[in-house]
Amino acid sequence: MGVRLEGKPVVQALRVDIKQRVSQLGEQGMIPAILIIRVGVREDDLSYEKGILKNCELLGIKSVVKGLPADITMGEITAVIEAANKDDSIHGIMLFRPLPENLDFDIIKNVIDPAKDIDCMSPVNLENVFEGNLKGFVPCTPQAVIELLKYYNIPMNGARVVVAGRSLVVGKPLAMLLLNENATVTICHSRTKNMPSVTAQADIVVAAIGKAKFMKDEFFTRDSIVVDVGINEDDDGKICGDVDYDQVFDKVKAITPAVGGVGTITTTILLNHVVQACEAALKG
Ligand code: NAP
Repeated sequence: MGVRLEGKPVVQALRVDIKQRVSQLGEQGMIPAILIIRVGVREDDLSYEKGILKNCELLGIKSVVKGLPADITMGEITAVIEAANKDDSIHGIMLFRPLPENLDFDIIKNVIDPAKDIDCMSPVNLENVFEGNLKGFVPCTPQAVIELLKYYNIPMNGARVVVAGRSLVVGKPLAMLLLNENATVTICHSRTKNMPSVTAQADIVVAAIGKAKFMKDEFFTRDSIVVDVGINEDDDGKICGDVDYDQVFDKVKAITPAVGGVGTITTTILLNHVVQACEAALKG
């Protein structure tokens, strides 16, 4: 029988630490503040925004939302980010992605002040991650995976970990964070031959490929720890992971659910970064 690795207790543990740090900052007259920049009114963005605002309230973090029209120009959005960079009352800037096609993310990601880059968009922060310097901001989803493994006392030191997916948002930075935990890391991608023969060798498998229920029981063994990052829709329009949870659950040691797993932790990591940015601003 597999164990279900829920994200909620991880969030609760992180919240205790965050609340304590917010209170310490308050004693020194500082309130951590996030600016959310949303372009247009995409359903996904609105739902993410709602989750962030709810969590901000719970944790005592100030939130400001700047909703911009979908047809905003590069000059206008750049001006908004530059103003936020200069505004001392804002500690973290969150820009929802993907952006409309008329906006060039490759330019915009260089505009954000790396000290306020809580979602790790800036190449400066990403480069630090790849250099093994984790003192800045780390991409939220990969960090959520690490926090989950730590919370459940799943050893990473010396463990064989396969990361399925090599995006710059999840797979690649996650591989760096796992290396930092002294895991032996293998990355799989769409050109990997016979992926089940690779994943079946691993102690921990992280699925981040964006393919609904793609990974079935032949990818795993009875000893596999499975972390499913995927958020997809199945044929019935229901949210599901990259792993076929129902088919696999009984056949592995432990597995995260698609809903209530890694995704639950991500917003808390983002807000942890706001507090981190505020603490750094206080130190000067
Ligand atoms: P992405 O940019 O589309 O990257 C997908 C990766 O998976 C690519 O490296 C691709 O390989 C690989 N891949 C695709 N099909 C494959 C296959 N059949 N076999 C092996 N590898 C395959 O996606 P992403 O942004 O990393 O997101 C991955 C999943 O995580 C999505 O479901 C997304 O919704 C979810 N996600 C969740 C969170 C969260 O907070 N839980 C956050 C971000 C993303 P190639 O490089 O060869 O094309």
